[in-house]
Formats: sequence, C-alpha cells, structure tokens
Amino acid sequence: MKGRDRSLIKCILFILSVCCVVSCSHEKRPLVKDATAMDTFLTVSVYDEEISDEQAFAMMDSAIAEIRRVEMMATDYNDTSEVGTVNKHAGHDSIIISSELNSLLETALQYCRSSDGAFDITVEPLVKAWDFLSERPQTPTDEQIQTILRYVGYKKLSIINRTVFLQQPGMGIDLGAIAKGYAVEKALQKLRSGGVHKAIVDLGGNLGVGWRGTKMFDSTVASIYIRHPRKDGQYFGKFKVGNAGISTSGDYQRYFIEDGVRYHHILNPKTGMPVRDLVSATVVSSNATDADALSTLIFVLGRERGMELLRRTNGVEGLLIFQQGDSLAFTGTPKILSSFSRTPTDD
Ligand code: ADP
Ligand code: MG
Repeated sequence: MKGRDRSLIKCILFILSVCCVVSCSHEKRPLVKDATAMDTFLTVSVYDEEISDEQAFAMMDSAIAEIRRVEMMATDYNDTSEVGTVNKHAGHDSIIISSELNSLLETALQYCRSSDGAFDITVEPLVKAWDFLSERPQTPTDEQIQTILRYVGYKKLSIINRTVFLQQPGMGIDLGAIAKGYAVEKALQKLRSGGVHKAIVDLGGNLGVGWRGTKMFDSTVASIYIRHPRKDGQYFGKFKVGNAGISTSGDYQRYFIEDGVRYHHILNPKTGMPVRDLVSATVVSSNATDADALSTLIFVLGRERGMELLRRTNGVEGLLIFQQGDSLAFTGTPKILSSFSRTPTDD
C-alpha cells in the first residue's frame, strides 16, 4: 500500500466532520453508495421514491464519476492533472486551461482578493512543506518557512484569456480549500440532470443537500450533526437544513501534536503557520463550493473577523466553535442558531 493510501485511511477516521440524517417513509430509501475520492470518504444517497433502483444506482455512479473527474482536473498531487501541469511549469511557461478550471480559479481568486490573501490558493509549497498526509509529519524550521513564503502570494498568479502563469519556479496552486465543495456541487448537478431531486452528497464533510422545492433552512429535510472536535465518535450538536451546501473546516481534520502543540492543515499564508483561534467553522450556503471556500476562509479569519464576514454576507450562515478556558463554546448567525441544539455533555 502506498504511503498516501495508508495516510488516507488514517485521515478518514479524523476527517468526517459532519453527518446527515434524513427521515424517510419509503422502506427502500435512501439508496446509498460509498466510495473514496479526493483523499476522503464519499457517500451519495438518493431519496427519490419515484425513480427505479436501477436508474438511481446509474445516477449515483455518474455522480461519483463526476467527482473523480473534478479530482483529475484539480488535484495538485498529480502532475498530469490540469492544476499539476500549471504547477510543473511554474516560473517557465504559461498554460492554457479548460474553461471549467478557469471559472473555478476565478471563483477561488475572488476569495483571495476579497480576503486580502487570508484565503490564498498559492499555499501549495507551504502545504507540501508541512506534509500533513505523510506518516510522520514534522514542523518545518522557521528558516524553511521564511524561504517558502517567498513562493506564496496569489498576486503572483496571473490568468488572462484562460492562460495561467505562476511567476516563480517553486510556486504552486492548491485547491484543497474549495475543490471538494465544487465537486459536490457538480455531482448534485449530475444527479439533477438525471432526474434525481432528493439527494445528499457527502465528500469528507463537504455536504450538498439537493432537495427540490425546499429552502436553505427547512426543518423537514435533513439534520446536520457537527462532529465533536475533541471527542472521537461524539457529536457537538445538530441543526436542520433543506437545499444547501454545508462545510466544516476544523483543527482536528488533519493534524499532529508535537510537544503538546496541535499543528493542523489550515495555514496563515502570511506567517506559514497553522491558524490559532477557532476550533471549527461550519458554513451553510446555497451551494457547496462557496460553503467550502468560506469555511476555510472564516477559520483563517478567526472568531471576530469571521463573524463579521458572516454578518455582512447575504445568504450565508455559520457556526463557529472555539476554546473557552477548558471547554468549548460556540457562536453563530441567528438562522443557524435558531435550529441548533447542543448535544448534552459535560463541556
Ligand atoms: P478539508 O480539506 O479538510 O475539508 P478545508 O476545506 O478547510 O478542509 O481545506 C483545507 C485545505 O486547504 C488544506 O489542506 C490546504 O490544502 C488548503 N489551505 C490551507 N490553508 C489555506 C489558506 N489559508 N487558503 C487557502 N487554502 C488553504
Ligand atoms: Mg474549505
């Protein structure tokens, strides 16, 4: 088994941050298919009662294939993917990309610009240096981090007429903060185009609930359980949604502890270090792409600036968990809080 596969299995245990429960009257629904993709677990569930099992399974297969297609476009762990090709030619050649990758990069760059680089898709060399996927990840030295930071900065990435250029060799694009949400959104589109209108796609805690005719918050559709950030196998609390994208970014998804300090995979692109403030950020949005990008961005911004961003962004709700003394506390936007119920625990 390759090192990366082994670490995938190890990570899977830590990564599932939310789960979804839907009540259903039909005895054969939901129909469920599990797979692995994009370095995590994938579950596609279909609840439509009107379509045949055969059609539902065929559509679930095409949703899974769609996610794998996005992975093949967006992964930076393979230098034959589109992103991998751009990275391989960094500092040397500009690369013509597909219009699909062009739009995804433009969406990601909007988050980079609007956050003044708190969200930055050029963190690739930093992420590789921290190497949270390896068997024995280690803290890079200050000197290494200072050197790598010279290769990080979205302003040194240009896209003109579908042509991408990274200005320095050693730079790279990492879409880890947005690609899973995008893949979930594309999978839901595939399901819809095949006549499936009640479905849930869960890609490592990036969830897409596609439920025709329902609003973002609908108490009759799905309960979202947020994993307890510090207690394996337990839930911190739950809330209800309808048609929505939901994503959680946390300090417990990919991490290691060295000398009692927790180092995790969401990095401050200005310092090169894991961000310390929140324990997790859950975002609910009308689509899974924005939910994914925003959960990472809000995690980087921290509690105050994250709440501020949530308050001024229409159609986006969030729940933030943070450490308060020895216990965990939470805050959030009114719509999510009104349906949130905390699991009774001693913290
Ligand atoms: P997960 O991938 O565990 O679902 P996130 O969506 O929060 O979690 O994405 C974290 C990933 O995003 C990291 O593994 C890394 O690839 C990338 N990343 C880390 N820090 C940043 C940042 N400040 N801006 C953009 N991407 C980041
Ligand atoms: Mg994200």
